[in-house]
Amino acid sequence: GSFETMGLSPEILRGIKRKGYRLPTPIQRRALPLALSGQDVVGMARTGSGKTAAFVVPLLERLRAHSVRAGARAVVLAPTRELALQTHKVVKELGRYTDLRTAVLVGGDSMEAQFAELAANPDIIVATPGRLLHLLTEVEGLSLRTVQYCVFDEADRLFEMGFAEQIRSVLAQMGEGRQTLLFSATLPAALAEFARAGLKDPAFVRL
Ligand code: AMP
Repeated sequence: GSFETMGLSPEILRGIKRKGYRLPTPIQRRALPLALSGQDVVGMARTGSGKTAAFVVPLLERLRAHSVRAGARAVVLAPTRELALQTHKVVKELGRYTDLRTAVLVGGDSMEAQFAELAANPDIIVATPGRLLHLLTEVEGLSLRTVQYCVFDEADRLFEMGFAEQIRSVLAQMGEGRQTLLFSATLPAALAEFARAGLKDPAFVRL
């Protein structure tokens, strides 16, 4: 398996090369083709496995180019500000040769700066649940109805940190037709139940 045989667009392959990735990691080799085919995926993988690119590459491939009118088409939810900022950086780096627009919405940053990011019609939002829900009530015209691709990253930590109600609320605000991916180091019962309710016949990738 190599990135070249995955059917990726030239600009996305170029972003991967520029980031210095030569060969896909095991989680990327298994989860990437599934996600690229449009399937929902539960990926059991921890930090260090290369899980971020496993969901960012299919996200970029699915969106490809900026759309002024389509609204936010991808959302990545992370349990902490640090993880959201780190994931946002990977999205920007791997998407360097696309014109996709991104916004990162986390607590501790000024709301004004985030209003401005949202006013620029981002295609991709990387966020922590609390700040995203807060902005959804504050920003007129911001909606998750347009989301086609949703990722719950480090989902076990999202649950441990008490975000269960908030992520259910985010899920309820998104359209039915979306593709959903969930990455987690562990799969406790409450999380497995959430995956059953929120994902469509997901493929499980365990390493
Ligand atoms: P992650 O598990 O997503 O936090 O990634 C862990 C580390 O592996 C990060 O420093 C990534 O930049 C790096 N990485 C991810 N995928 C690859 C790859 N295919 N080749 C080399 N390094 C990678």
